[in-house]
Amino acid sequence: MASGSLSFAVGYSYVNQFFDNEAKRSALQMVENIRMQFSSSVSDVDWMDPITRKIAEDKAQAMKEMIGYPDWYANKSALEVYYKGVSIGRSHFRNVVSLRTFLVHQILSKLRLPTDRTEWFISPDTVNAYYNHQTNSITFPAGILQPPFFSKGRPEALNYGSIGAMIGHEITHGFDDIGRHSDKYGNLAQWWSKSTTDTYLEKAQCFIHQYGMYRVPELDEMLHTEVMMNGVTTQGENMADNGGMRQAFLAYKKYVEHAGSDKRLPGLHQFSPEQLFFLGFATVWCESSTKESLLQEVLTDSHSPHRLRVQGTLANSQDFAHAWNCHTGSPMNPQDKCLIW
Ligand SMILES: [Zn+2]
Repeated sequence: MASGSLSFAVGYSYVNQFFDNEAKRSALQMVENIRMQFSSSVSDVDWMDPITRKIAEDKAQAMKEMIGYPDWYANKSALEVYYKGVSIGRSHFRNVVSLRTFLVHQILSKLRLPTDRTEWFISPDTVNAYYNHQTNSITFPAGILQPPFFSKGRPEALNYGSIGAMIGHEITHGFDDIGRHSDKYGNLAQWWSKSTTDTYLEKAQCFIHQYGMYRVPELDEMLHTEVMMNGVTTQGENMADNGGMRQAFLAYKKYVEHAGSDKRLPGLHQFSPEQLFFLGFATVWCESSTKESLLQEVLTDSHSPHRLRVQGTLANSQDFAHAWNCHTGSPMNPQDKCLIW
């Protein structure tokens, strides 16, 4: 209840007690490196016409980033101002009425005002991240800037493989099947030429087909059939996973060029930094779920089940095949690969 209705108060307390500002600085730097990498990859793609490509680069540059917590947290009295009018007492019912009234007022107060592109839609203690199509912005709350996603002092290969791939994922959403319909301010706009749109749709079809061929055998018994993934409804997230991981890997290689190579981990000397990058990527998607929750995920979620987020993304990666010596034609290094960003 408290974290749902007083989320920014809970977030404030979390940030004060547990968040290291060094994580904010590192994450900002990583966002900058990956965004630069994304722009440079866009400028290299051969399937976009020059005008559409230029607008895509501008959109990547114009993307706003929110890291850790909102700027207004710096003002110590801001929280009281934010929750002005809310009264919390001994009656749970009255507390709920007061908070609901506050939340509805907050929504109505924005009516007819210009969109604030720096607004936070989730509280800083949340372990999640998002891209907002309407504002062309990405948000990484303090809650996700901790292990296993991020930690200062560990090899950057692990950080780039985990939080780096997520940063790349959110940036790529600006250019997926939904994001491509809005411009750099988040307004609906048609900025793609006809020929580039046609090529994009062909490339998207590759992902739809790839993920649509994946089986979810855990559900066969329940549904009395061979259960397959839905490649259409998950295409945006799959594209974001693929583009995000690829851009984070390329950004990591550039980082190493000027900062020097990562040290190997004691006890894990057998893994190269590149291999650690991919281990970092796969580790954040470890999950254990019941068949019922997996079924709900397959039927309704726009994300693929975690195992397939790892398998599908890495099977498209030449860098992964190279780092782990996968033979061409093996399950994790198929001949035909999908690539957009
Ligand atoms: Zn996503």
